[in-house]
Amino acid sequence: MMQFTTKLEKIRREALMAIRPRLETIEEISTVNTAKTLAAFRKHRVSGHMFNFSTGYAYDDVGRDTLELVWADICGAEKALFRTQFCSGTHALASVLFGVLRPGDELISAAGAPYDTMQSVIGANRITPGSLRDWGISYREIPLLDESVDEESLIASITEQTKMVLIQRSRGYSLRAPLMLADIERLCSRIKAVKPDCICFVDNCYGEFVETKEPTQVGADIMAGSLIKNPGGGIAPTGGYVAGRAHLVELASYRLTAPGIGSEVGSSLGASRLLYQGLFMAPHVVAQAVKGAVFAAKFFALLGYETSPQVDEARTDIIQAIKLNTPDNMVAFCRGLQKHSPVDSHVRPVPSGMPGYDDAVVMAGGTFVQGSSIEMSADGPLRPPYAVYLQGALSFEHAVLGVLGAASELPGIED
Ligand SMILES: *Cc1c(COP(=O)(O)O)cnc(C)c1O
Repeated sequence: MMQFTTKLEKIRREALMAIRPRLETIEEISTVNTAKTLAAFRKHRVSGHMFNFSTGYAYDDVGRDTLELVWADICGAEKALFRTQFCSGTHALASVLFGVLRPGDELISAAGAPYDTMQSVIGANRITPGSLRDWGISYREIPLLDESVDEESLIASITEQTKMVLIQRSRGYSLRAPLMLADIERLCSRIKAVKPDCICFVDNCYGEFVETKEPTQVGADIMAGSLIKNPGGGIAPTGGYVAGRAHLVELASYRLTAPGIGSEVGSSLGASRLLYQGLFMAPHVVAQAVKGAVFAAKFFALLGYETSPQVDEARTDIIQAIKLNTPDNMVAFCRGLQKHSPVDSHVRPVPSGMPGYDDAVVMAGGTFVQGSSIEMSADGPLRPPYAVYLQGALSFEHAVLGVLGAASELPGIED
């Protein structure tokens, strides 16, 4: 490709050659997940009238209600919420925490500190107004052991008071390994073995459709995520979801709307088709993103950077961490990625503070849907080890161009 230097072009070809077998595996997973999705659409007779506009209370909005049955089936869950009334993944996750937990209960985070915005929701580091801890819910986190869950300490720390364990599947802004479905299955079964009524709650952000099952199919009681990540397929304009055991999802719905009303209201305002279409596309789009992540891992490894996961490691989320070692490199990477975005390509990313985040964050995201990270985007807090977290791509081709664009801005790349 003429727009990049001969050196980068050569590395592109080498990386593509090396990852070919991995790409085929990713396509297989996408086919299984597409079949699963189609089966759920067929079972619930998805049809055109479900895309109609609803208004007001939207009682009996058949489009909204059917979509939630479809998503519950895909996830092997008893009940689901899958809707635009969730403003974000954090909102969906918070509705589960506040819906289910009561003063005096204890929440444990299994994999060290949770995602930055969840720390504010919990009041993990300081009791912030309105946080879980402000409501009298106690909280502990089990520090990571060698960058993974310290299972023995986790199991030993569960007491009568422990109502819920939060299991974050994806790595968040950290270099720990994400939790594979097999890990989640083992964790849930070990937790249940010591306290059968302890609720296993999975933060499933970035994990949907990366493997062929979801956490609620391997022992999780409830999970939540964002529709501007994987399950929205890049088409959902906003939203979040919760899925799991019926009584727990019901409790979360009381927090989303109001006790007694729950999931029975919430107008689609015409977004139903976009949610259905996005969900239908999601297995394919997630596969594009995962392919892009694998390409980035190989490409940056060839450039001499540490990447996580490495190219041959198994994947359970769409995130690719690249350790760039300096804040300047992080900003340059994001600048290059932004230049190769379809929207706002002329905008120059600068690090800044963000609601819910403690450190300054630099982000590249020239996306059609604001903040969408199933579209190609990169971000990272400006703190050691100065890693950027690259995720998403609506097409593999775009991922390849974005990665080359990001690399071409790195200071000294041609030396
Ligand atoms: C994205 C994400 C969230 C929620 O973030 P929102 O920006 O509110 O959607 C929570 N946990 C993890 C691990 C995430 O990746």
